[in-house]
Amino acid sequence: MTTVVSCTLNEATLLNNVRVRYIKDHIYTYVANILIAVNPYYDIPKLYGPDCIKSYQGKSLGTMPPHVYAIADKAYRDMKVLMMSQSIIVSGESGAGKTENTKFVLRYLTTTYGSGQDIDERIVEANPLLEAFGNAKTVRNNNSSRFGKFVEIHFNEKNAVVGGFVSHYLLEKSRICMQSNDERNYHIFYRLCAGASEDIKKKLHLDSPDSFRYLNRGSTRYFASKDSDKQIMQNRKSPEHLKIGALKDPLLDDQGDFNRMCEAMKRIGLDDTEKLDLFRVVAGVLHLGNIDFEETGSSSGGCVLKNQSGQCLEYCADLLGLDQDDLRVSLTTRIMLTTAGGAKGTVIKVPLKVEQANNARDALAKAVYSRLFDHVVTRVNQCFPFETSSNFIGVLDIAGFEYFEHNSFEQFCINYCNEKLQQFFNERILKEEQELYQREGLGVNEVRYVDNQDCIDLVEAKLVGVLDILDEENRLPQPSDQHFALAVHSKHKDHFRLTVPRKSKLTIHRNLRDDEGFIIRHFAGAVCYETTRFVEKNNDALHMSLESLVCESKDKFVRELFENSNTTKDSKQKAGKLGFISVGNKFKTQLNLLLEKLRSTGSSFIRCVKPNLKMVSHQFEGALILSQLQCSGMVSVLDLMQGGFPSRAPFHELYNMYKQFMPARLTRLNPRLFCKALFRALGLNDNDFKFGLTKVFFRPGKFAEFDQIMKSDP
Ligand code: ADP
Ligand code: MG
Repeated sequence: MTTVVSCTLNEATLLNNVRVRYIKDHIYTYVANILIAVNPYYDIPKLYGPDCIKSYQGKSLGTMPPHVYAIADKAYRDMKVLMMSQSIIVSGESGAGKTENTKFVLRYLTTTYGSGQDIDERIVEANPLLEAFGNAKTVRNNNSSRFGKFVEIHFNEKNAVVGGFVSHYLLEKSRICMQSNDERNYHIFYRLCAGASEDIKKKLHLDSPDSFRYLNRGSTRYFASKDSDKQIMQNRKSPEHLKIGALKDPLLDDQGDFNRMCEAMKRIGLDDTEKLDLFRVVAGVLHLGNIDFEETGSSSGGCVLKNQSGQCLEYCADLLGLDQDDLRVSLTTRIMLTTAGGAKGTVIKVPLKVEQANNARDALAKAVYSRLFDHVVTRVNQCFPFETSSNFIGVLDIAGFEYFEHNSFEQFCINYCNEKLQQFFNERILKEEQELYQREGLGVNEVRYVDNQDCIDLVEAKLVGVLDILDEENRLPQPSDQHFALAVHSKHKDHFRLTVPRKSKLTIHRNLRDDEGFIIRHFAGAVCYETTRFVEKNNDALHMSLESLVCESKDKFVRELFENSNTTKDSKQKAGKLGFISVGNKFKTQLNLLLEKLRSTGSSFIRCVKPNLKMVSHQFEGALILSQLQCSGMVSVLDLMQGGFPSRAPFHELYNMYKQFMPARLTRLNPRLFCKALFRALGLNDNDFKFGLTKVFFRPGKFAEFDQIMKSDP
């Protein structure tokens, strides 16, 4: 009833099973203990309500219909019984439903096992704030998270919620200054323009999004063309809605969302001053973006601010607590320490060209906004502090494997992350499963899978890994993307996982030279990375004059954004000299810490699936879904399950669970014999289970059947 029931499990039957269930609005399906979740793209009535939450409490996996709540409850019970922290790894491509399912897990755990205090609600209410600053509309998802997160809910020794902690990974920075067609910048920018009171708008000199460079380039102007969109337009009667400007997205209600966000801020305890601090910096970034430069025409070859930009400079300086002239100078010149001619450490000012000044402006905007995002996460963490914690349940919501037409540094990092997660998945599901069968003497055939350690090494190995090659490039006096690409090729000439784009039959769409990119064969497929801007994207350091400008801001809040950033003073000083802080290696360190954490916990997996590219309900595109199941490693799991026994229970557990239903003479037997006698008495089919050394193993779906017989027929 609830699991994938079949003895010849293969791709086709799994796909069909998922399809049949999806048509009936049963979006969740298990394969062993892994939950597959198909995005329904509409609110299925009662699927997540309070009654449903109650019905999953304390129930074994498989005794109720598959549900994200069942996984949450299993994690909780495992934590309690095994006295061990747990993690739930949610994966899938953009728009597959990771973030929504993560929220359901958090809501389930806090409402069911909360302490009945503010803290429960705060863990859930932190989301609107994080999403305002870290989510954006993309072509794949109208509310796409542009950062990864690991949310821990901490429990005390009585297993009640005591607090939470959020770690975040890799906010997408390029979006702050530029967006692709039909995509937007982070929600907060539009929400602030649409929803702020007149008073605040005046203070922050805000106008319609059309008037800001950072907001008005990506999105194409909107014309109501699709019927569904038209309907949404009609449903929203508010005239305000139409007034806000062409960049108002008809599918998003920026004004309403602004109000909801403010409500959430209030509930997690942010006061008006803190709120205004956040808004002020957001507005400052917008005005900064409007500053334009033009050539001076003088022999020095530098640039100056365009006339019209004076006002933007003033607003930006004012909002960020900077001195106008300092800001102007820092944007148009660069301070360099020269060691030439023996005059060690002489400071010289080099005028910047228009393009360099544009880059400096954008680098400053990205630095300010990403520090602001760090601050939001830190602030959110202060809302659910805890003093002691016995165990935690962590939920990982991070982008799945990505393969676009153009793949850059962002895709490289996210796919590297997915290699590591895939290895963890293999380790847990396949290796552990095989080892268990062997330990228990079940005599099940070995399952082969491709270990991807070689691919992980290719990226992260010391010195020869792509990340270290890139860092080495960044430290050169004149780093270049071309030189970096060639270095990668020359270090890994015969690597199985790496190829030159030119020679490859794998790239159907790119025709790159060797110095323009490389191809990596990932577990989920080959991806061609274009290395343009890798060097720039790998560097988190601002050039020296900008760094000291913001660090000396008159505004305490802005100053603290940079002081409190997670780069230590030491590394900052070093960075100052070298002008380089590595993004890639920071991510590597974070990721290795995360994996260490995951390995120390018990784990559950949720694989989210996107049913179609149109983001509509009731449309099941088989091929699209199958490829996602393959990418997520579900196919290798199926191989294992084909001859496997996904549910198992230790003899003593079954004994304790069912002894009350059995005659006294049976309960005197030891647990193993008790189980044998019990199974014989019930007349169970020998093919449906196997006795190991310490546990009984069940064929897919058979434990639930067994449990039902016991409970309905004592
Ligand atoms: P991801 O985080 O994987 O990119 P999201 O969780 O943001 O994807 O989901 C994208 C959109 O799909 C959501 O904004 C929501 O409209 C819809 N959605 C996802 N999961 C569900 C669900 N269980 N029920 C209803 N709608 C959903
Ligand atoms: Mg998301």
